[in-house]
Amino acid sequence: MRPTLDSYRHLASGKVREIYEIDDDTLLMVASDRISAYDFILDTPIVDKGRILTAMSFFWFDALGVPNHLAGGPTDERIPGPALGRSMVVRRLPMVQVECVARGYLTGSGLIDYRNTGAVCGVELPAGLGEASRLPEPIFTPATKAAQGDHDENVSFEHVAAQVGEDLATTLRTTTLDIYGRGAALAAERGILLADTKFEFGQDADGALVLADEVLTPDSSRYWEAATYTAGRVQPSFDKQIVRNWLTGPDSGWDRHGDSSPPPLPADVVARTRARYIEAYERISGLSFADWPNAE
Ligand code: ATP
Ligand code: MG
Repeated sequence: MRPTLDSYRHLASGKVREIYEIDDDTLLMVASDRISAYDFILDTPIVDKGRILTAMSFFWFDALGVPNHLAGGPTDERIPGPALGRSMVVRRLPMVQVECVARGYLTGSGLIDYRNTGAVCGVELPAGLGEASRLPEPIFTPATKAAQGDHDENVSFEHVAAQVGEDLATTLRTTTLDIYGRGAALAAERGILLADTKFEFGQDADGALVLADEVLTPDSSRYWEAATYTAGRVQPSFDKQIVRNWLTGPDSGWDRHGDSSPPPLPADVVARTRARYIEAYERISGLSFADWPNAE
């Protein structure tokens, strides 16, 4: 018999995930089907998104081959039936309070920093780069974890070193770039560019870094289609472009710069977005989403 969800203490709600306490040493992370766009959590869930992103995290944790926080498999008996397929049982770890971002391409807050200062998080870059430029080499661009509702703030390596110590900061940088490199290389083989990503690390009893949180999902990363990549313009989002196009197109009736929150998504936008997430999972992993555990 699987436990029920309400037998666990609910610890926290993120934008898309719920965290429960299994015991002192173990957490249950449950991914919902919620999706965000333009800084709003939309009213309409994307059917199966939580399961698909959980499947991706499990795939990547396995493929990356670095120490990680998983404390059980996707059908671990501690997972409640209704949460099956969308849950990870993880070791509860003290978290390093740094958002460890790696970028191989310039966009988003990185591009804004570069345009203002010629650098991103203090990393000097050559002149002449623009939207979606491929960087000469991937860079570590850490951010502080913002309080709920706020945006993470880009900080320099020195800022991180002052926060956690020079040695740990150096290890965070090396490890982040190493894992990004492995992920980007594997994705590239499947025709997908991993433009940037964010990792979070916990520490084990010896202080060694343990890859935690979700990993290399489209919620924590920018995935771009390699075949249509063109530097100099904003790249379509692999996963969210269908939603964005509809929201900013004539059919939604929504003004992105107005005061109202976005309207519900039509069923075909949900279906096409779901198919896109599945495509990302299946292309990257080479596995079939039909084989992934379902809720009981
Ligand atoms: P957001 O929705 O903006 O990401 P959030 O980070 O508060 O907000 P989640 O990402 O859902 O919400 O929450 C996951 C939380 O759990 C984060 O604070 C993360 O640092 C933490 N976390 C991830 N893995 C572990 C772990 N193994 N042990 C302890 N805490 C963890
Ligand atoms: Mg988070």
